[in-house]
Amino acid sequence: MLKGKVAIITGSTSGIGLGVARKLAASGADIVLNGFGDAAEIEAVRSGIEADFGVKARYSAADMTKPDQIKAMVDETVAAFGSVDILVNNAGIQHTAPVTEFPAERWDSVIAINLSAVFHGIQSALPHMQAKGWGRIINIASVHGLVASVNKAAYVAAKHGVIGLTKVVALENAEGGITCNAICPGWVLTPLVQKQIDALAAREGISETEAKVKLLSEKQPSKQFTTPEELGDLAVFLSSPAAANIKGAALTVDGGWTAQ
Ligand code: NAD
Repeated sequence: MLKGKVAIITGSTSGIGLGVARKLAASGADIVLNGFGDAAEIEAVRSGIEADFGVKARYSAADMTKPDQIKAMVDETVAAFGSVDILVNNAGIQHTAPVTEFPAERWDSVIAINLSAVFHGIQSALPHMQAKGWGRIINIASVHGLVASVNKAAYVAAKHGVIGLTKVVALENAEGGITCNAICPGWVLTPLVQKQIDALAAREGISETEAKVKLLSEKQPSKQFTTPEELGDLAVFLSSPAAANIKGAALTVDGGWTAQ
């Protein structure tokens, strides 16, 4: 379905981004992976995607805190593949602390990666989409773009910002073939959340399994983690013709978290 399309997925060496990249590739898109990690492991992921799905896959080491590197990633993609049709802004980090103890430099880095990078990526990619009259921008926000939790000031502020930015970009491109939407997952079992599970287990002296149950029970009524594959399938749907008139939406995939 996405044959001939080119997708950049930021932060796709791990977790949700990797799940989304694999699903877009499985639908036929050529893809650009991005993110940090061991060079040999990243190369194995990249070549594995080419072998598994018969698409072309490139890797960009662009640091999402650096606007010039984000622009270079987009420009290199267009030079190599001829276009950028789908942009998935997914790279993100977390830091937890009460506001009064929140280190300013952690605030700056969470805002830079989780919010400002989304702006810089869109600003670089959008002109190419507008020139072709077609594009899909998918921002991986969070339930924390809609509701708050304690100790997550920078993350919650950034994710609320992402949903606002999503709406503006959707409205500025309301006529024509470009859509911009946000996906708002609840808990997804990735390295980002594993750190919070490990911290909870250590803090409360409980096992990892007990910590997972406790984490889910507090917020996510389904008591099931959303998977990167489910989010990948949603990104494929948002890239499909059926989703052409979904513009500026914040789609929850949260097991009922925000229904409460
Ligand atoms: P993860 O830690 O598994 O992956 C994060 C990815 O971002 C990695 O590929 C990492 O290398 C990359 N990254 C980090 N800093 C970067 C930088 N400066 N430049 C480029 N890449 C960078 O995390 P995840 O759980 O898969 O999270 C992905 C996105 O989903 C984030 O935006 C996160 O906020 C969001 N999200 C996650 C959950 C969850 O429960 N895991 C829930 C809601 C939203």
